Amino acid sequence: RLMTSHEIRQQFLDFFKNKGHLIVPSAPLVLKNDPTLMFINSGMAQFKDFFLGTKPPIAPRIADTQKCLRVTGKHNDLEDVGHDTYHHTLFEMLGNWSFGDYFKEEAIAWSWELLTEVYKLPKERLYATVFEGDEKENLPKDTEAYEIWKKYLPEERILFGSKKDNFWEMGEVGPCGPCTEIHIDLREEAEIQKIAGRELVNKDNPLVIEIWNNVFMQYERKADGSLVPLPAKHVDTGMGFERLCMAIQGKKSNYDTDIFQPIISFVAQKAHTTYGKSKETDVALRVIADHIRAVAFTIADGQLPAATGAGYVIRRILRRAVRYGYSYLGFKEPFFNEIVPLLASQFENVFPELKAQEKFVQNVILEEEKSFLRTLENGLQTLSQALAKNENLKEGKVLEGKLVFELYDTYGFPVDLTALIAKEKGLSIDTQGFERELEIQRERSRKAQAQEASDWVILAQNHADVEFIGYDYAQSTAKILRYRK
Ligand code: ATP
Ligand code: MG
Ligand code: MG
Ligand code: MG
Repeated sequence: RLMTSHEIRQQFLDFFKNKGHLIVPSAPLVLKNDPTLMFINSGMAQFKDFFLGTKPPIAPRIADTQKCLRVTGKHNDLEDVGHDTYHHTLFEMLGNWSFGDYFKEEAIAWSWELLTEVYKLPKERLYATVFEGDEKENLPKDTEAYEIWKKYLPEERILFGSKKDNFWEMGEVGPCGPCTEIHIDLREEAEIQKIAGRELVNKDNPLVIEIWNNVFMQYERKADGSLVPLPAKHVDTGMGFERLCMAIQGKKSNYDTDIFQPIISFVAQKAHTTYGKSKETDVALRVIADHIRAVAFTIADGQLPAATGAGYVIRRILRRAVRYGYSYLGFKEPFFNEIVPLLASQFENVFPELKAQEKFVQNVILEEEKSFLRTLENGLQTLSQALAKNENLKEGKVLEGKLVFELYDTYGFPVDLTALIAKEKGLSIDTQGFERELEIQRERSRKAQAQEASDWVILAQNHADVEFIGYDYAQSTAKILRYRK
């Protein structure tokens, strides 16, 4: 029998509880008191003060599963989502931490024990990477981690990695240190036999992926650039829960696990199709199954869709999903919101905030969907009118970049959709003109981002049992008009 995702998560938490860790809940996706981060994108974010030493840790050992969103800033995986099978917008990061307590020896030993003895992943498919050092920056090679790994892995499966992948720093100054990543090779046996040893790891093969990162904070970078050892050393780890489930359940894609399959089947059935039928509909189903999680949990955590800031990011993710449904699955009416109850039940015992606000979240999404579908229809009309009147055409049969951009920006038309419609009319599009307009808009939003301080709207905890009545889009950050407890 396959271990379910619920069991896998619980075993992680139980394992670290038995090793003396305090289990804490996930922090909300939007941190009101941290203007440097739009959304939580790693497990350590809620513990930043402990690492910086500005607050004492609540326990020397902590573990949890943290909702993370990687759709902005340094970690932005959005464009890959749905097209690959292992990057999500929202994912769970399982993590264990030591604040000045245990260090490399225990962290590596426990990773190995959990993966191979509790989860029973095949040892011969696991790899580790360790930091190779960086002479220019005066960073030493992590020989400690290398020596520890040798107890568990043959040398040809311990690889050295560069600063980019195997060194972590919070910023230009502050705590930093090497990390060791654990990768798994899920390819067919025959294919593995073809290449040997060091060539194998993680060259954009969707079946050879990173599952767990163990960061060892042992230095502090000073303002003058020097590196001094930290008096108390810390461990910070993060493991992608959906990837772990894929490996344990013997699947080739995160979307084939029991985390995503119920949602995909539900949407496929509504669209009168099945998953696995064509590349285009599969991508659309993956995008939708992924995006509903990001949108629903962010709204449940208090961030409504809006015209600026974090709210705008959520609105765009929502529109991306609706647009894929519209273009590839034939959804001309709202459908996206109907997934919410499924998700709420699935996560009732892990992230109860969604169940507590199920109706509210569903209604917010429904209203967004309705207005976006109207916008899409209007965009299609604008386009066909322009085409009928032969307006917005550059010399020959080329659609002006300005119009392509307007459709993209105002109506949420992806460029390929516009290109497709234009092509049906025997036209092409001015891609360069579009890029120019896009750059101008990027500049605008860079300026807007610099100004944004906080757009926190409502706190999830205060928000159980509300009845949604409507909200005001006129404000830059949507405000709830009325609600009743
Ligand atoms: P990758 O190289 O695969 O993009 P990463 O190095 O950016 O991953 P880390 O910042 O080290 O990831 O985060 C710790 C773990 O979180 C990773 O080992 C991976 O299992 C998981 N992870 C990272 N990004 C995603 C994502 N977008 N979706 C799902 N899991 C992710
Ligand atoms: Mg990444
Ligand atoms: Mg990586
Ligand atoms: Mg990593």
